[in-house]
Amino acid sequence: ADPAVQVPELLGSPLADIRSTGALPLPPALYLDADGRGRRNSTGLDLTAPAHRAPLQAALDRVVVQPVAEATPEQVDAAMARLQAGFPAWSATPVSQRAAILRRAADALDARLAEFCALLVKEAFKTQADCVAEVREAVDFLRYYADNAEADAGAMQGRGVFVCISPWNFPLAIFAGQVVAALVAGNTVAAKPAEQTPYVALKMVELLHEAGVPADALVLLHGAGETVGAGLVAHAHTAGVCFTGSTVVAQIINKALARKPNAPIPLIAETGGLNAMVVDSTALPEQVIDAVVQSAFRSAGQRCSALRLLCVQSSIADGVIEMLKGALEQLHVGQPARLATDVGPVIDDEAHANIARHVERLKREARLIAEAPVAEPLPRQIRPVAFELKRIADLGEEIFGPVLHVVRFESSVDEVIADINALGYGLTLGIQTRIDSRAQRLADAARIGNVYVNRNIIGAVVGVQPFGGEGLSGTGPKAGGPDYLRRFCTEPHLDAPA
Ligand code: GLU
Repeated sequence: ADPAVQVPELLGSPLADIRSTGALPLPPALYLDADGRGRRNSTGLDLTAPAHRAPLQAALDRVVVQPVAEATPEQVDAAMARLQAGFPAWSATPVSQRAAILRRAADALDARLAEFCALLVKEAFKTQADCVAEVREAVDFLRYYADNAEADAGAMQGRGVFVCISPWNFPLAIFAGQVVAALVAGNTVAAKPAEQTPYVALKMVELLHEAGVPADALVLLHGAGETVGAGLVAHAHTAGVCFTGSTVVAQIINKALARKPNAPIPLIAETGGLNAMVVDSTALPEQVIDAVVQSAFRSAGQRCSALRLLCVQSSIADGVIEMLKGALEQLHVGQPARLATDVGPVIDDEAHANIARHVERLKREARLIAEAPVAEPLPRQIRPVAFELKRIADLGEEIFGPVLHVVRFESSVDEVIADINALGYGLTLGIQTRIDSRAQRLADAARIGNVYVNRNIIGAVVGVQPFGGEGLSGTGPKAGGPDYLRRFCTEPHLDAPA
């Protein structure tokens, strides 16, 4: 059972009002419309049911990821000129029409779920469950931003050409979310997906064009961040940048934007995290382990929301660590296309080398708790692993892989929250406790964008748990939340009363 469902029973009161707590009994990617009806894409899809699996398997057999060409500086320039020229017509298109295009695209994507899942398996090595959740999340973004734009139509005045730079870890959902938010708000968009995952982005852009986005409102540009990304950020026509990726790259973009003659130019950045879960002595260990395994190891730890640091009150630490060991031994590390697989390979050789170096260092400097076995050896695999550290301050930088750091604490939970705040990041936090007032107090004290109580800390649901951080984790606004679109817009002028 989803631990989220257990929360009201355990605590005697629903915690749904604690900021972004996920204490809502909802499956992933269920976006409710204004009437509280679940959307079509929330209807259950059972990966173990042959009828549901058949189309997925057929798509896996059929879909081939094609290579793409990197944009030249001349192509970047031509694209920006085209988008600048396309801006007046697109920004003058009624919001209702722009929203209708997003809804058409949502329906098309929903209908092509199996194909996009297969693309995600093949290009990003995602597990089947992750793929389904990601396609649904992308559909949710399309529908949610369409609804939001219409509800806020008076304010939807685009800024100009928006540059959207997106990561490989959600190469469909984050890519599509950024692009359609900028578009529906009235901007034209230069989209630069991660160079590791260009093809799924290309298919999504084709789909958006087929749904009615004009060719001069959205142009896709492939290539590396250092070349194509930097060229776009520096371009004279750039009116805003939306970036999801590392904190370091966000800082580079920010500096580049600040140097431009037409600065200041807005930057929306969603970056990294050193995400923690705090477990007090009243927590339910089975629930903790389930939440930890999901949060730290699902998607091979390649989510910015993923759990990096587990802080356990010392009186229950031995038991929790023992159970964690058992859970790690149960993980199936293998081929992502196989249904049984929990953890697939990481994205590329560079990521693999970086994570492996960190693991090797911790094998010398920390206490190894356990490492998952490998069911099928494949290139670029990292065995999910947990280490015990002495202090939170020993954590170091964000490692984007299936590596969990565990610290036991003797101090008060409030001091632990202070130590977590001191890390400077503020993306996700888990709190595991059966003391209602404590959960609320800690959530209030945490300088963290998304706080989850008695559940996992990943998989924020569009329209239900707006996702985004503070401090080193980003500028806001939260994706999938009511304030997102407005940051892509200028404020409308108010006509003086006659
Ligand atoms: N929204 C995702 C989640 O809640 C994470 C997005 C990311 O990793 O960038 O898990």
